[in-house]
Amino acid sequence: MQKGELLYEGKAKKVYRTDDPDTYLVEFKDDATAFNGQKKGTIRDKGELNNKISTRLFRLLEKEGIATHLVEQISDREMLVKALEIIPVEVVVRNIAAGSLAKRLGLAEGTPVARTVVEYYYKSDELGDPLINDDHIAAMNLAGASEMAAIRKTALAVNDFLRRYMDERNLILVDFKLEFGRHKGRILLGDEISPDTCRFWDKQSREKLDKDRFRRDLGGVEEAYQEIWKRLGEN
Ligand code: UDP
Repeated sequence: MQKGELLYEGKAKKVYRTDDPDTYLVEFKDDATAFNGQKKGTIRDKGELNNKISTRLFRLLEKEGIATHLVEQISDREMLVKALEIIPVEVVVRNIAAGSLAKRLGLAEGTPVARTVVEYYYKSDELGDPLINDDHIAAMNLAGASEMAAIRKTALAVNDFLRRYMDERNLILVDFKLEFGRHKGRILLGDEISPDTCRFWDKQSREKLDKDRFRRDLGGVEEAYQEIWKRLGEN
């Protein structure tokens, strides 16, 4: 598979065309940003770890019947994926209040929510990814009602599986963000699932093992990403 034109460079990934118009190549970078790009840095080996972690999780989700963009991991930092037309909505699923939800609702971080919360954010750096609802999505023609119904159902199925899977590895899945896209008339789960996009806490110590270590200058950032990979590797 030939690496072609650079299509898009984001904060943590580059996307290239390949010689197959239906397949893109994603390259995972060590660069990290937070607070809409205001904080910048690099996390050693993050690209490689996020590539491995995402590939592993996408494969497991595929086995559960969840359609993802994964084709295969082709190198330490590179993954082949099905070409998606990304829907500009970030889908956040929450089991425990943290981050922006804790702040917005005045909840102490770590408070479990009585029912899983699904939120949508409009993917726009200019606007700082504002929180939106189904009406905004319909009003702006970002996705159809049936597409959103499928996305919500899939996001909850991902949560059911991942929560259990992480629990078996002594990890609490606090919250995470998903992105979806269209490929040949189907909606596929895209982007990545990694410590950049999920909050993982150790079940006993509640130590944070995710990007919050970078966002909040907690130290031990690289070690946290390594630890997640290690726990996934232990079956
Ligand atoms: N998240 C993400 N990308 C974003 C914003 C959030 O991957 O641009 C993830 C984040 O890692 C967390 C979840 O979505 O697992 C919820 O994030 P939150 O809204 O609490 O925002 P934050 O505290 O990161 O500003």
